[in-house]
Amino acid sequence: MSGFDHRTYYEMLRDSMSVALVKAVLNKDLAESKETRLKARGNGGEVDAKQESEELAEFIEFLATDLFQYLPKDLTIITYDMKLADETGYIGSIESAEDFLNNLPGSYVDAIVEAKLLGADGDAEDVKRMTTSVMEDYLATATAPPLKWTETRPLECELCAREVKLTYHHLIPRSTHSRVLKKRMHPEYMLNRVAWLCRSCHSFVHHCEENMELAKNWYTIELLEQRDDIQKWISYISKRPGKTRVK
Ligand SMILES: [Zn+2]
Ligand SMILES: [Zn+2]
Repeated sequence: MSGFDHRTYYEMLRDSMSVALVKAVLNKDLAESKETRLKARGNGGEVDAKQESEELAEFIEFLATDLFQYLPKDLTIITYDMKLADETGYIGSIESAEDFLNNLPGSYVDAIVEAKLLGADGDAEDVKRMTTSVMEDYLATATAPPLKWTETRPLECELCAREVKLTYHHLIPRSTHSRVLKKRMHPEYMLNRVAWLCRSCHSFVHHCEENMELAKNWYTIELLEQRDDIQKWISYISKRPGKTRVK
């Protein structure tokens, strides 16, 4: 799983596939004669449309599962970090998927051609073209930079889950940034990560450890939550009042 996108690599591939296929099917439908569509409508077309989209979702799931198991291992572990570190620009590029696209599994190609998903005369070349756009989207997603952390503001404190006024805690405290960079402890883009904590939890975190220790060993919510003292704290504070939603 990528460290930033909470979807698994399989889910990223499936979603990229979904985007490309829905687009392809829409294009095909638009190309179909108006007459056919009118007939479908007279036939209870709305119900058909719903059933059709459920079937399409199932089919996408099936195709993505098939494709994913043939995906070269190195395309299922790529990250933003790896892309940044690669000066050749190969990691995350469509060239890195070229061999795979030239040797798409037969079962996958046949399934799409037989379902006439890319039109009545859609062939292996059309499947390759469509899959190229799937892979472009997939590679871009898998190697995307992290979200801007401050835009991920939740409603609840990330430790005690109470809906109270939140403050932001730099998971890698600002005062440590220059040393963190000098020691190459974390890559630069990680420095802006924040957790949204209520005042009580925020104070408690800083009471537990010095800033440098936080930067070194306790730089995610998941890590903080593993500590005994923080677990005890959460079970205490989460029972305190503070369920009122703050705008
Ligand atoms: Zn809290
Ligand atoms: Zn803080």
